[in-house]
Amino acid sequence: MPQVGFGVFQVSDDEAERAVATALREGYRSVDTASAYGNETGVGRALRGSGVPREELFVTTKLWNDEQGFDNALRACEASLSRLGLDYLDLYLIHWPVPDRGLYLETWRALERLKEDGRARSIGVSNFTVGTLGRVIEEADVVPAVNQIELHPYFQQDGLRAFHRDHGIRTEAWAPLGQGRGLLDDPALAAVARAHDRTPAQVVLRWHLQIGDVVIPKSVTPSRIAENLDVFGFELSPDDMKTIGELDKGVRFGPDPVTFGTG
Ligand code: NAD
Repeated sequence: MPQVGFGVFQVSDDEAERAVATALREGYRSVDTASAYGNETGVGRALRGSGVPREELFVTTKLWNDEQGFDNALRACEASLSRLGLDYLDLYLIHWPVPDRGLYLETWRALERLKEDGRARSIGVSNFTVGTLGRVIEEADVVPAVNQIELHPYFQQDGLRAFHRDHGIRTEAWAPLGQGRGLLDDPALAAVARAHDRTPAQVVLRWHLQIGDVVIPKSVTPSRIAENLDVFGFELSPDDMKTIGELDKGVRFGPDPVTFGTG
């Protein structure tokens, strides 16, 4: 799985097609979408139009909350594959656990079946907590390969990342840039960026890479799409890492996975 991929949350079908085409031209090979984003068709068009061989691509999609349950999940995967125009996914994720509905374990069994059948090369979860992830690990045959969670310098999730490390689960950061909501204006990041002659976005993405995260930054602006992949030619020092480590506010921007999707 490439450590830097391309996200397409809140992007229409047509815009997703354009942005993914640009990203693939710039050298991205991994794309993260979801049935809930409503743009799998546009993503699929860009993948096919790019001329990049299927085996070089890494395509992730996710099943939405109303697609949970064993049979529903099998059907949801077929529907996503058909919209994407693919015959297998590289990674299929349960988008949110919705613990109150109590369907995520049954849904996980369907993902295990999809893996067995080759419809998904690997399977994982998103927005799972230590509690819900722990239940999956206890009950399942296959340990999730990935947990895709909100993670950025203002919300660093040290406890969950340690849990992932202990269980061999890869941490994938969504909102790696803090969704453009002020994080990139932080003066501490600006100072580190100046010292490396890089942008704050590149510094944040580099921080993720050095703590071991997979990242899927989103942009529809060609220059930013290129900038966000250009993060391999410099290294943050232990002092830089410490400075960024101290920015954690422990407050998420997104919904709380314990309650989201309930009711
Ligand atoms: P992000 O942190 O990637 O921020 C994207 C925003 O940051 C852009 O809209 C733009 O405003 C700004 N930006 C991007 N590049 C920039 C740059 N170089 N300089 C300055 N500003 C820049 O937030 P995101 O889109 O929410 O998260 C990334 C991806 O994660 C999504 O596209 C989606 O694929 C995934 N995601 C998953 C979940 C989930 O529940 N699993 C939730 C949200 C997002």
